[in-house]
Amino acid sequence: MTDGYIRVGRVLHGTTAEGPGLRTAIWFQGCSIQCKGCINPHLFSPRGGNYTPVLEIVEQAVSTGVEGLTLIGGEPFDQPDAGAELASAAQDQGLGVIAFSGYEYESLRTREDRTSDFLASVDLLVDGPYQAWNAETRRALVGSGNQRFLHLTDRYKTYRPEIVANRVDVRVRADGSIDVAGFLDAKGLSALADLTGTSRTYRKA
Ligand code: SF4
Repeated sequence: MTDGYIRVGRVLHGTTAEGPGLRTAIWFQGCSIQCKGCINPHLFSPRGGNYTPVLEIVEQAVSTGVEGLTLIGGEPFDQPDAGAELASAAQDQGLGVIAFSGYEYESLRTREDRTSDFLASVDLLVDGPYQAWNAETRRALVGSGNQRFLHLTDRYKTYRPEIVANRVDVRVRADGSIDVAGFLDAKGLSALADLTGTSRTYRKA
């Protein structure tokens, strides 16, 4: 059972770089998959990040006026209780839910924990591990060709990752820290690192 909290690496409200429309992106902390070549190793540990009230994230998302949430990682389905609560609370407020997972849908469906509740509150599931040797060259949002867009509801049926462009959201905060969202390939990451003087970037599952 969840205590109403979720362990997150980062929350970014009001981004257009993580799916259709204006979204709140939530990077779950902890990933048991640890794909070779993942550029988010800082999200691997389940003990890092911030322990944050689920309802606080949803309330802030609603007040920002976003269309929905994008749950990325880390691995959202490593926290099935909190993920189920977060996705359900978001849908109760009329928000759409897109979730990325390094696990395949068929595998998630065999679980006997609250993963089924979590999936029941997801509109679009993007599944499959990142495969560095199988780089995606055509579709937006995903890093490798094996990853699938599975519409669990009709909400995002018109979203076509093969015809939309990847967007990148770069924010420089008052303290000089830099937030990056969206997908960049190796060339883009290198260019951004040169531009900002940092190598810290983020990729979805
Ligand atoms: S790509 Fe996603 S699923 Fe794979 S190790 Fe990185 S965070 Fe985990």
